[in-house]
Amino acid sequence: MIRQDRRTFLKLAGAAVAGAGLAGPIMADEAKSGDEIRVRIEGPADPLLSRTFGILQDRIAMRCSSKVVLAPSDARIVLAVDKILPLEGFRIEEADGSLRICGGSPRGLLYGVGKFLRTSRYEGVFQPSSWRGVSAPQGLVRGMYFATHFHNWYVQAPQAEVARYMEDLALWGVNAVMAVYPMINLQGWDDPDAEPAMAMLRRYARTAKELGLLFTTGVGNTLFIGAPDSIRATRLPDPTGRRGNSGHPVCPSDPAGREYILSNTRRLYERLSDIGLDLVCYWPYDEGGCACDKCMPWGSNGYLKLSRDLTQLGREIFPNLKTILSTWMFDTPPEGEWQGLSDALARGEDWLDYILADAHEDFPRYPLDTGVPGKRPLLNFPEISMWGNSPWGGVGANPLPARFQRLWDQVKHVVQGGFPYSEGIYEDMNKAVSAQFYWDRDRSARATLEEYIGYEFGSGVSGDVLSLVEMLEAAASQSYQKQPVDADAARRARSLADSVHARLPEWARRNWRWEQIHLRALLDQERFAGGGLHTPEAEAALLRLIELYHCELETNDPYHHRVRPKSQRAVSRNGEK
Ligand SMILES: [Zn+2]
Repeated sequence: MIRQDRRTFLKLAGAAVAGAGLAGPIMADEAKSGDEIRVRIEGPADPLLSRTFGILQDRIAMRCSSKVVLAPSDARIVLAVDKILPLEGFRIEEADGSLRICGGSPRGLLYGVGKFLRTSRYEGVFQPSSWRGVSAPQGLVRGMYFATHFHNWYVQAPQAEVARYMEDLALWGVNAVMAVYPMINLQGWDDPDAEPAMAMLRRYARTAKELGLLFTTGVGNTLFIGAPDSIRATRLPDPTGRRGNSGHPVCPSDPAGREYILSNTRRLYERLSDIGLDLVCYWPYDEGGCACDKCMPWGSNGYLKLSRDLTQLGREIFPNLKTILSTWMFDTPPEGEWQGLSDALARGEDWLDYILADAHEDFPRYPLDTGVPGKRPLLNFPEISMWGNSPWGGVGANPLPARFQRLWDQVKHVVQGGFPYSEGIYEDMNKAVSAQFYWDRDRSARATLEEYIGYEFGSGVSGDVLSLVEMLEAAASQSYQKQPVDADAARRARSLADSVHARLPEWARRNWRWEQIHLRALLDQERFAGGGLHTPEAEAALLRLIELYHCELETNDPYHHRVRPKSQRAVSRNGEK
């Protein structure tokens, strides 16, 4: 065990020590405490400061033998709030023989601790980061959308695991999370699943608020399964098959339909009123839309009016509520929705704060070529979960850094944040890449992954894991485009993954993030160069993924197969929709 006094601590950090008189008495103290890291908190009494200390303590303890302790004196690390910094910014510096991590607010400090943890090393003993400087985010809304449905990880994971995962995302710079109340799965408020679903939504809201994150939910014209037939929306024509007609949309131009939407949305808002709601996102299609004469063109007419009404309602309960209008699948086919929205915003509509845009593939051209309607800040909605794999996460991790770099490069000059769409934890690398794009629009996916790998898997494997990620992405792309997948490459990826596995420190080998990558390499070899996904080795890997995702091996949910790896033991009692 290495004993570090403050002098060697800073030397390990690769920095010169200021002042020569530190060694004497502190050495004596350190001799008793071994590799203890003394940390002092300077700042206002704020629960997020002690939470941040706890996160620092926990993430170091899981990686090495060093122990982080709170200490009023002789601190090696000082966690502080410095209001000179931008609210969400941070600074890491040396002063008076200590390493100071300062945030412009408790949340800024949390981001600083994230940078510090990721750039530190953990070979047996803690080696503090040598990163020094100031950093502040460029993106305003650095969100993550948790699709809380289909009994996926977000629905199934125990609260402690969810809270820990939200901490991990916050460390990467995320400042907003979105989760929705899954009315699509519920008959009404009397449905036996209605209260458990509300309890889940409230847990997400509370966990987000405890971490200082903005809590966001989505509402629109899709409500309960039990909405009366008489008020249902007119089905969308959807000739390209990309908008969807999911859920049970209600026509807001029908007075009874409008009343049904507003009264049920009020009830939803009231159930969140004690926790708080910072942002609300309106969604036009897939789960939403109405093609009746009074609502069409939906995007710039019925939808816009309904979103205005829902904002007025929301602000009665949450006076500072901000609004996001999604334009997902606008003008598919061309109906003048983008132009109609531009015209409407030119006339007013002050209630609207952000516009969100994205598509299944390339970014919509209208906001790039013509400008964002009403000059509102533009958010994106990258689909980081489903592309190139089915079931989603069904063969383990699906890192796609090249894809997201290409899509980001189309929009990075105009986008000011966004909400990547997530169905689980198997696309964790894609989340880190997106969160860092929002923090610094010119930071490459590769640079983020290098930092990710060093932090999650330890030193010395960065080059190999990056090569492995490249091979996994190439296989996913070939498979998605129905091209033959290179069997030799699948074998090489598996062998590289095994070789990395053998070199990892124990803590990294046990990390579920690594396990999902390793399982993916194994399953790719089986499906592209081996005996398929029914071999005993593949079956064991699929069952392990089912365990990691907390899937139900036997389920009543007709949609669960979308997020459950295809083990031969898996059963859907109510069929598969
Ligand atoms: Zn209608």
